[in-house]
Amino acid sequence: MDFELRAEQVAICDMARRFAVERIQPRVRDYDREETFPLDLYAEMGKLGLTGGVVPEEYGGAAMDHQTYALVIMELARTCQAMAGAASWASGVGGISVLRFGNEEQKQKYLVPLARGEGPVAFALTETHTGSDVASMKTRAVREGDHYVLNGSKVWISMINSCRWILTFATVDASAGRKGITAFLVEPDWPGVGRATFKNKIGFRPMETGELVLEDVRVPVANRLGEEGEGFRIAMSSVENGRLGVAARCVGMMKACMDLAIDYAQSRTTFGEPIGRRQLIQSKITDMAVAYETSRLLVLQTAWKKDNGDRARQDASMAKMYASDALMRVAEDAMQIHGAYGASDEYEIGRYWRDAKLMQTIEGSNEIHRSLIAEYALGYRG
Ligand SMILES: Cc1cc2nc3c(=O)[nH]c(=O)nc-3n(C[C@H](O)[C@H](O)[C@H](O)COP(=O)(O)OP(=O)(O)OC[C@H]3O[C@@H](n4cnc5c(N)ncnc54)[C@H](O)[C@@H]3O)c2cc1C
Repeated sequence: MDFELRAEQVAICDMARRFAVERIQPRVRDYDREETFPLDLYAEMGKLGLTGGVVPEEYGGAAMDHQTYALVIMELARTCQAMAGAASWASGVGGISVLRFGNEEQKQKYLVPLARGEGPVAFALTETHTGSDVASMKTRAVREGDHYVLNGSKVWISMINSCRWILTFATVDASAGRKGITAFLVEPDWPGVGRATFKNKIGFRPMETGELVLEDVRVPVANRLGEEGEGFRIAMSSVENGRLGVAARCVGMMKACMDLAIDYAQSRTTFGEPIGRRQLIQSKITDMAVAYETSRLLVLQTAWKKDNGDRARQDASMAKMYASDALMRVAEDAMQIHGAYGASDEYEIGRYWRDAKLMQTIEGSNEIHRSLIAEYALGYRG
C-alpha cells in the first residue's frame, strides 16, 4: 500500500489549506459567536471547486476520488468544521442521494447548484421522538393526484435558514415501517413550509440548526426522489458517504487541537519550565498524536475502499465512531493543557471542544455505530 500523496492531491490540499488560513481563519471566531453561516465564503469555496467533492463534473462537481475528498475536508476542518461540513454537502447525505436516486431534471435543478456552492441543502430526517429510530417517523405524505400533501415536523435540521432546497422524508403508510418511507425534494419558500432556528447551541453554532414544519405542503410527484417506499434506502445509502465526511472533519479538528495544545505547552511556563517538559503533559500529547494518526488511517482506508468499489459500510461506521470518540478525548486533553485559558473565547480551543461533543451524535450516534459494527462482525447484518 502506498501512503504517499499524489502531486494533484498535495496541490488541492495546499489550496484548501491556503483558503482556510487566509479567508476562513480571520472570520471564524466572529461568525461562530454570531451563530451565522458565511454564505459568501461558501460561494468562494464553490468557485475554487472545493464544494464539488466526488460529484461528477457534469453535475457541477469536482470529480475527486474519495481519498482526495477526505483530505480536503480534513484541511478545511483544521480551521472550521462548519465550512468543512459545507464542502461535504454535495458528496454527503444531500447531494449523493440526488446523484444516485434522482432523475436528470432533479440532478440539474438541485445537485448542480449544491456542488457549485451556490446554495446549501438541508437534510431533514430527524423528528422530535425519532432520532436514531428513523423508521418510526410520524411525518405523513398523502398522494392527491399529481401531488403529495406533507404534514409533520423535523427537528435539529442544519442549514434550515439558508438552504436552497430540502431533502426530507415522510411515510406514505405508517403501518409499513421503513417500507413506507418516501423521500421528497422540497423548496423552502413553498406554502406551508415553516422554519425556526435553535439559538445558543453549545456547538455547531454557524450551522443554523433548527426546526422544519410541514403543514399541508403540496409537493409535486416530480419532486419525489426515487420510488414510493424507497426513502429509507435512500437515507441509509447516503449516510455512508456522510459518515466518511464527518470522520474526516474529526481528523482535521484533532490536528488543530493537537497543534494548539503543542503551541501552548511550549510557551506556558510553570515552576521555571515550559509545561511541555512535564511527563503528564507529554502523555496527553502522545495520546493526541496516536489518536490523530490512527483516525486518519482509518478514514483514508475507508475512502480507499470506496474508490476501489468495495462496500465500506462497516468501515464508515468504524471511522465515524472511532474518529469522533478520539476527537473528544483529544479536545478534552487540549482544553486541560490550556488551563483556565481554555475557558476564554479569546483562545480557539474552546470552539473545537464544543463542536467535538456533537460529532459523537450526528450522522448516527456512536452507540448506534457501536451496535452496527458488532452486527456486521457477527454476521447479523450484511
Ligand atoms: C448540531 C446537530 C446537527 C444536526 N443536524 C441534523 C440534520 O441536518 N438533519 C437531521 O436529520 N438530523 C440532524 N441532527 C440530529 C441527529 O442526527 C440526531 O440527534 C441523532 O440521530 C440522534 O437522535 P436523538 O438526538 O433523537 O437521540 P435518540 O435516538 O433519542 O438517542 C438518545 C440516546 O440514546 C442512545 N440510543 C438510542 N437508541 C439506542 C440503541 N438502540 N442502543 C443503544 N443506545 C441507543 C443514543 O445513542 C443517544 O445517546 C443534528 C443534531 C445535532 C446535535
